[in-house]
Amino acid sequence: MFTDGDEDDIMAHDGQDTERPPSGLSSISGGSSSISDEDNKERMEIKMKPPQIYVERTLAIIKPDAMNKAAEIEDIILRNGFTILQKRKVHLSPEQASDFYVEHYGKMFFPSLVAYMSSSPITVYVLAKDKAISAWRELIGPTNPFKARETHPGCLRDTYGKDQTRNAVHGSDSFISAQREIRFMFHDNVIEPIAAGQECKDYLSGEVNATLLKGLTELCKKKPGDPVTWLADWLIDNNPNKPSVKGPVVVEED
Ligand code: GDP
Ligand code: MG
Repeated sequence: MFTDGDEDDIMAHDGQDTERPPSGLSSISGGSSSISDEDNKERMEIKMKPPQIYVERTLAIIKPDAMNKAAEIEDIILRNGFTILQKRKVHLSPEQASDFYVEHYGKMFFPSLVAYMSSSPITVYVLAKDKAISAWRELIGPTNPFKARETHPGCLRDTYGKDQTRNAVHGSDSFISAQREIRFMFHDNVIEPIAAGQECKDYLSGEVNATLLKGLTELCKKKPGDPVTWLADWLIDNNPNKPSVKGPVVVEED
């Protein structure tokens, strides 16, 4: 299922069949934090009633060297139970590639990584699945394809990787990285945690309950024939947030 287009939906850019993510992404900080990840998971698990199916989103990339195998890899993605929520073909500039991999700045391989990732188009995906982040990392295998061949035969980097830099695919390594990387590649993607538990109670008591209680009281007094429509109209008329004109209204005469 594609919500952000398939091959036909890829936006043209400068006459090419690929687009570049927007500039100005350098403010997004890099790196990951295992403490925040654990906190996040813990919070989600407390909020969720059993069975706790923890559907995560992760960022996957088909890197330049594997683009000729994109259809095959996509097929493997789907057969492994991932849902493709979004898909985009992009050609990163060297600046964008260094921003994306900022956590590796200063390492020996950084210049070759940046040159490689900006050398030609890549395809980026938002994948969803129960525990998608670790499931996708498991499927792609170790960073080094030669090592992958020995320890995880059949993984994507074993099958499609060529060397340490050209290792075919990318996967976010943590919840925080996934959030950052999805925002980086899909700048219009709003990832908000769904309010639950105490957060919901606070929101309802702060924003809704007082008005709703008044409306329900009036409803019980009136007992109209169509209570739902009556209440809807009452709420519109008595919405404390409805725009109002402050100060005297000046009526201009012709
Ligand atoms: P990943 O999360 O498994 O992709 O690995 P890292 O985050 O550690 O590294 C990012 C990317 O940099 C890797 O996917 C490789 O393309 C490249 N890379 C990492 N380590 C090395 C290395 O030791 N040598 C070279 N040439 N490239 C590397
Ligand atoms: Mg990494």
